Amino acid sequence: MDAISYQRAPDIGAALAAASQPGTMFIGGGTNLLDLMKGGVMRPMRLVDITHIDGLNGITALPDGGLRLGALVRNSDAANHAWVRERYPLLSQALLAGASAQLRNMATVGGNLMQRTRCAYFYDTGFPQCNKRSPGSGCAAIDGNNRMHAILGASRQCIATNPSDMSVALAALDAVVRVAGPNGERTIPFAEFHRLPGDRPELDTTLHAGELITSVDLPPPLFAAHSKYLKVRDRASYAFALVSVAAALQMDGNTVKSARIALGGVAHKPWRANATERALVGQSLDKATLQNAAALAVQGAQPQRDNAFKIVLAQRAIVRAVQQAGGVA
Ligand SMILES: Cc1cc2nc3c(=O)[nH]c(=O)nc-3n(C[C@H](O)[C@H](O)[C@H](O)COP(=O)(O)OP(=O)(O)OC[C@H]3O[C@@H](n4cnc5c(N)ncnc54)[C@H](O)[C@@H]3O)c2cc1C
Ligand code: SF4
Repeated sequence: MDAISYQRAPDIGAALAAASQPGTMFIGGGTNLLDLMKGGVMRPMRLVDITHIDGLNGITALPDGGLRLGALVRNSDAANHAWVRERYPLLSQALLAGASAQLRNMATVGGNLMQRTRCAYFYDTGFPQCNKRSPGSGCAAIDGNNRMHAILGASRQCIATNPSDMSVALAALDAVVRVAGPNGERTIPFAEFHRLPGDRPELDTTLHAGELITSVDLPPPLFAAHSKYLKVRDRASYAFALVSVAAALQMDGNTVKSARIALGGVAHKPWRANATERALVGQSLDKATLQNAAALAVQGAQPQRDNAFKIVLAQRAIVRAVQQAGGVA
């Protein structure tokens, strides 16, 4: 058994000071980190409990009409907050599609963004080959069971997917992640927060060592009337996405004025389908337009042995999500 120390940080400064020690990790709800520690996948020497920091657990209105979600807001509180439900129903739906009620009651906004992949080989230390867990060791999934894995943006080093439902909605909404670190505060556009594996698959995000997520800022709500989070999974609840789609539209009558489409379950990060978005603008939501636009999202997809079905599934899910967002299905 590894010895670990535990401390509660009363404020951001104390959390950052503690995190400057090597081997230190922040702990939020603990719903991912503790599982990883129990399995020996992650072995921090020091845990800094950030859940008692004042000022990071509220949902506040921003002067531009947007909304700030404190990093410590529990997933259930975010999903059920009146402003989130009314102004960002896409986000509320995505949160409620994740995990279970008990887990959502514990999980925090910051922890959700930082949760690790659900690749079974990453979790099972009986498999020595995992570049994400042990850089340079290889990737057991490439020649293994890879039904759940990526079809877009993967590398020979890692084909894992990002498991967060909330992050898919935040990608579509163009959220901004605010962080505090040893060198002060900075903001990270959501599209730049998670990264593709490349030759550094051990890095999931662009967060620097010792940085603390303080909030996620949502821009003014443009899509409340026409949005849909569609999650396709093996079971109706308590299962990660095979493919998910966050679709957000602005409509001018029957014509699409603007579109945001993000996919989950297909890549190492939430995947914005920019070509699909462009193909929808100025069009009506007839089936041929939707199918053509959806096909653009998977151009260049590279399936693994067990997951070619995701190419078809992603297109069908996009069509259905956009139809439902636009009120034509
Ligand atoms: C059985 C099960 C089913 C699940 N199903 C789903 C699902 O369908 N969809 C889904 O999206 N999720 C699912 N989850 C994952 C769940 O959403 C995450 O475990 C949860 O969101 C993590 O939040 P947390 O606060 O508990 O994070 P923790 O476990 O406390 O931390 C996770 C990571 O985030 C870091 N961290 C936490 N807060 C911060 C911060 N403010 N700044 C910087 N780093 C931070 C920690 O150091 C750690 O590395 C499931 C989990 C389980 C156990
Ligand atoms: S896909 Fe990534 S996480 Fe899974 S075994 Fe390969 S390197 Fe590890």
